[in-house]
Amino acid sequence: MRIIEPHIHMIARTTADYERMALMHTVACCEPAFWAGYDRTSALAFHDYFTHLTTFEPARAAQYLIQHYAWICINPKEAEDVALAKEVIAFIPEFLDAPTVLGIGEIGLNKNTRNELTVFELQVEMAVARGLLIWIHTPHLNDKLKGTRLMLDCLKAHGRVNPDRVCFDHAEEHTVGLIRDAGFWAAMTIYPITKNSPARVVDTLEQLGPERLLVDASGDWGPSDPATLHQAVFEMRRRGYDDDQVEAVFYDNPCLFLGQCPKFKPRPRRRGTP
Ligand SMILES: [Zn+2]
Repeated sequence: MRIIEPHIHMIARTTADYERMALMHTVACCEPAFWAGYDRTSALAFHDYFTHLTTFEPARAAQYLIQHYAWICINPKEAEDVALAKEVIAFIPEFLDAPTVLGIGEIGLNKNTRNELTVFELQVEMAVARGLLIWIHTPHLNDKLKGTRLMLDCLKAHGRVNPDRVCFDHAEEHTVGLIRDAGFWAAMTIYPITKNSPARVVDTLEQLGPERLLVDASGDWGPSDPATLHQAVFEMRRRGYDDDQVEAVFYDNPCLFLGQCPKFKPRPRRRGTP
């Protein structure tokens, strides 16, 4: 059994969490750039953060035989200040060639403002120009549907965005269909208290099918636990799915999406393209 964690903020976690993940068969994890629990006071703080994501975390994960990958961007929670965002975007290319960086993410919307959308569009442009994968944060709270629609419309209107190479994260039952019908990948994030639970995610897998669907845990600064991913694995087993079916969701699917970036080393067990 091998598991890939497609979205986790290890900067917010202890080394003991890497050990737990390794014991639960996690072989690779991906860390999108996001909020630090506070608003950064300068562009340089983001430079330090990106350096951390591309040097310290891969080394810390490797001690537990976990491959650590990162996504780089200015996140939607700090995208309201367009001038600051542009300062950050100016040095993002320095990090994109790092051997563990998969693409631009997690970009997106937080409160669905005009400024957030401007910063989103700037970063989509950068990803398209460089042929990079995109990882998208959809807003939490009641704005999820509206924000998801806004970004889908924006990407569809762009004309040069290949939906195979874009994943919308924090999807829920009411947005998974919308995202996949437009040809994109969807990811569902599990939370221990609020939002998607392991059972809700497995219900969705059963109702809507596992194609183009990723599952991740909510390892971040809020109430969260990397083990929620493994609780979903157990929930599938409890419902009678065998290891082959479990691994198709928790290992092969991430390999198919993330493997479109040649830097991502794990390979799916099956031949196939997304
Ligand atoms: Zn995140």
